[in-house]
Amino acid sequence: MSGASPVWHPFTQHGLNEPIPLVTHGEGAALYTRDGRRIVDAISSWWVTTHGHCHPAIMAAIRAQAEKLDQIIFAGWTHEPAEELARGLIAMMPAPLAHVFYSDSGSTAVEVALKMALGFWLNRGEPRHRILTLDHGYHGDTIGGMSVGARGVYNQAYAPLLFDVGTLPFPVGDGQNTLDALEAECRAAPAALIVEPLVLGAGGMLLYDAAVLAEMRAICAAHGVLFIADEVMTGWGRTGTLLACEQAGVVPDILCLSKGLTGGSVPLAVTLATPEIFEAHRSTDKARMFFHSSSYTANPLACAAAAANLAVWRDEPVRERIATLAARQATRLAALTGVRNARRLGTIAACEIGSSESDYLATIGPALAAHFRDRDLLVRPMGNTVYVMPPYCIDEADLDAVYAAIQDAAERFG
Ligand SMILES: *Cc1c(COP(=O)(O)O)cnc(C)c1O
Repeated sequence: MSGASPVWHPFTQHGLNEPIPLVTHGEGAALYTRDGRRIVDAISSWWVTTHGHCHPAIMAAIRAQAEKLDQIIFAGWTHEPAEELARGLIAMMPAPLAHVFYSDSGSTAVEVALKMALGFWLNRGEPRHRILTLDHGYHGDTIGGMSVGARGVYNQAYAPLLFDVGTLPFPVGDGQNTLDALEAECRAAPAALIVEPLVLGAGGMLLYDAAVLAEMRAICAAHGVLFIADEVMTGWGRTGTLLACEQAGVVPDILCLSKGLTGGSVPLAVTLATPEIFEAHRSTDKARMFFHSSSYTANPLACAAAAANLAVWRDEPVRERIATLAARQATRLAALTGVRNARRLGTIAACEIGSSESDYLATIGPALAAHFRDRDLLVRPMGNTVYVMPPYCIDEADLDAVYAAIQDAAERFG
């Protein structure tokens, strides 16, 4: 219980006095609370935990690095975990992505991507400032991230500070509505388009077709508009492939990764860029450098954790686990009754329960959250949208418990 705790939690209405469980340890898909409960983590602790909590190889890498070097300024200095990780990422990610810029979170990876895009155009002597986005998108909670994300109750207090963007409608059917809007916007020579490939996560697990993603990329290329893929959520196997972009045969100019980058263990993010974007900043002129840094850029402990994650991808049957989980999600989702819009991509499954409108502040929300909490499940519905996005190691019994609770919820609230 929160009691008189001075802690102010994120996305939490403290006035509702909802219980705040204290978690003492985690293993695999399970979390354990101080009051002795075993909780199934059905949302990968907000989409970050890929291989399970406290993966032994990742924990060992952090411990080993902690014996050597904790932190070092990254402007003008480097260290082995950052070099090893960057080489590993470039080997794993599609060409021509060849340059790795480190930061600390998905939001900062997005800020870096936007600044790279603007810097690219300025340094080419053709300043461009307009950014295009997809409606219902989410790109983080910093001012830039909020600006390129959907406007709503979560950011209305800050709306006067958010910059103007060109918002493309969410694809309907074959997505011609989106593609037509993109063609029209491209005539005004925008700097870049930023999208979440194939799944809009915080927008409500909205799926769209790989063909639309491929077309959007092609239109951007034809007009010389930079294409930024925000794979902060979709990366690291979530959608069934390492990157969601793979399913559309698309390589972005700029790629944002975070969440599963360290297997979900410690915070770290990267923004990958093509040689073209790097070269636009490389010069003997200091005024053309990339003006971005944070104190903990490329923290050695975090880089060691991410390098260990890459080794897990190399050494363990991660892709098989993802395929198995995807199949298990598919059969269980198909068996649900009384839910609407059941949909799935890779390891992500979602549906709506109760009233037809999906609204983040829907009154059903707190009751749904309590329904799952009472069953020792970490499931955090977005309004009346319920989704299951567990660590890849979750077993059938735990997954069954999650789906039994969703079926119960459909009957209680449907
Ligand atoms: C979570 C998320 C972010 C923000 O990442 P943080 O680490 O929470 O700052 C950005 N983009 C997408 C697509 C996300 O899902």
